[in-house]
Amino acid sequence: MFAGFVCMAALGKYAAGLTREAMGTEVTPKKIAITFDDGPNEKYTEELLKGLEERGVTATFFLLGKEVEQYPDIVKEIKDGGHLIGTHSYDHVNLSNLTDAAAIEQVDKTNAAIHEITGEYPEYIRPPFGCWKANLDYETSMIEVLWDVDPLDWKTSNSDVITKRVVDKVEENDIILLHDASESSVKAAFKIIDELEKEGYTFVTVDEILFNYTGNMLQCK
Ligand SMILES: [Zn+2]
Repeated sequence: MFAGFVCMAALGKYAAGLTREAMGTEVTPKKIAITFDDGPNEKYTEELLKGLEERGVTATFFLLGKEVEQYPDIVKEIKDGGHLIGTHSYDHVNLSNLTDAAAIEQVDKTNAAIHEITGEYPEYIRPPFGCWKANLDYETSMIEVLWDVDPLDWKTSNSDVITKRVVDKVEENDIILLHDASESSVKAAFKIIDELEKEGYTFVTVDEILFNYTGNMLQCK
């Protein structure tokens, strides 16, 4: 029994479904996505990756081109961990304030840097501040991904506060926004995962829930 339990834990998200099936309750796992912006981060991304691996959880990382160029090894580790990599612009700028040409350059430069390391061009973009222009969908062929739950993790160093803000609000098929840019955010990510898995959630990458995504539409004037 103990060996079986360890095996289930190692399987992570797939284990939740198997466990319920074995128990005969036939509950469909509730999908949820956890996402991290602004990396790769020299100090915190690898710690985060280790904890995600231990939990068998895959996440989505929206990377900054300038950081990608600086820390290619960490980008490779994200890719090797089976996580989904998206774009978050090159310089963390408000893309809706730029000319189309400048916005496209922010995306293309970042995508090229990621492709150089992973061999894949990202398909998804989380524009900084959630600010995007509809015509850029066509100009860049990127799919915009916003979020449903934003605990403002960058404003506090208290991981319990961040965790509570997410756990109290989250619903099935939500996209959670975090940043792998501080110790408290990484700790909160682990607490959020552990807590929501107990509540029957299964963590997936954003491409697995976008088909029924409504998200937040922001005004960016
Ligand atoms: Zn950002």
